[in-house]
Amino acid sequence: MYAASFDYQRPTTIDEAIALLAKHGDDAKVLAGGHSLIPAMKLRLARPRIVIDIARIANLSEIRESGGRIAIGALATHRAVETSALLNSKCPVLSEAASVIGDVQVRNKGTIGGSLVHADPAADYPAAILALDAEVEVAGPGGRRTIRAADFFVDLLQTSLAADEILIEVRVPATARTVAYVKTEQKASGFALAGVAVVAGADGIRIGVTGVAATAYRAAAAEQVLAGQSSPSTETIALAASRAADGVEPLNDIHASADFRAHLARVNTRRAIEKALARG
Ligand SMILES: Cc1cc2nc3c(=O)[nH]c(=O)nc-3n(C[C@H](O)[C@H](O)[C@H](O)COP(=O)(O)OP(=O)(O)OC[C@H]3O[C@@H](n4cnc5c(N)ncnc54)[C@H](O)[C@@H]3O)c2cc1C
Repeated sequence: MYAASFDYQRPTTIDEAIALLAKHGDDAKVLAGGHSLIPAMKLRLARPRIVIDIARIANLSEIRESGGRIAIGALATHRAVETSALLNSKCPVLSEAASVIGDVQVRNKGTIGGSLVHADPAADYPAAILALDAEVEVAGPGGRRTIRAADFFVDLLQTSLAADEILIEVRVPATARTVAYVKTEQKASGFALAGVAVVAGADGIRIGVTGVAATAYRAAAAEQVLAGQSSPSTETIALAASRAADGVEPLNDIHASADFRAHLARVNTRRAIEKALARG
């Protein structure tokens, strides 16, 4: 099906894009890589009257280190995240998650900003972003603000980004090397049935889970079992993993039952913890 007709705008600066969003309100949608928005428009699930293509805004796809963190521009493609030497050496869990997104075409066009704002419950990055305790910088008519990952994902396809704001960059620690991302994917698309990111550091082991519930979450009950332990035993890891779906309501759809998703969350949590600690 073709998308309903729309006007197309191509701002070259962030300020211009924000002004267009402010002017057109709910009639407008930002376009980045187009790999979620365009399918939604073709299915008429989204019918924006104005499409604001931000792909030509300069400097929004850089990946650079600054003050102990790595800043990833919103327009960095999944492929750029996958192959970034900086991320691979200092924060490889994001590259690992990016490397298993969809297929080569999706990775070449899709962007980290688009994926985070779309907030698909089965997207890969949210698990890593939560486990990294990352933050995102957004810009709107009132200026810029920083949102912690824990406060960013609100519900199915919903974030705390306001309608007139644009995600500018994601910031992750430049010291997260004891990490792993393990997912079981839906074979046709690659989307996660259960994807688990683990980041182990001096302050403990953080676990982000995607694909299982309406929104990605931190597996708090599992983290609690591991609290204060830098090299947990096999039994402790198994106990922690058994809590990976505690307190969440797993999705139940044609791709996987709720029970199966919860099971995959537990299995992949154990595998991801073991993989991360073996690397550390
Ligand atoms: C066949 C297929 C398989 C896929 N498999 C996977 C997979 O395995 N794992 C996975 O994680 N994803 C998967 N995806 C989704 C893919 O990663 C998309 O690229 C991503 O979800 C959206 O990024 P985008 O840059 O294409 O955003 P767009 O489609 O351009 O935009 C998505 C949404 O975000 C908004 N937006 C975009 N950028 C910004 C910004 N900077 N500020 C504010 N709002 C913004 C748009 O208005 C829109 O609402 C798949 C997609 C396809 C088509």
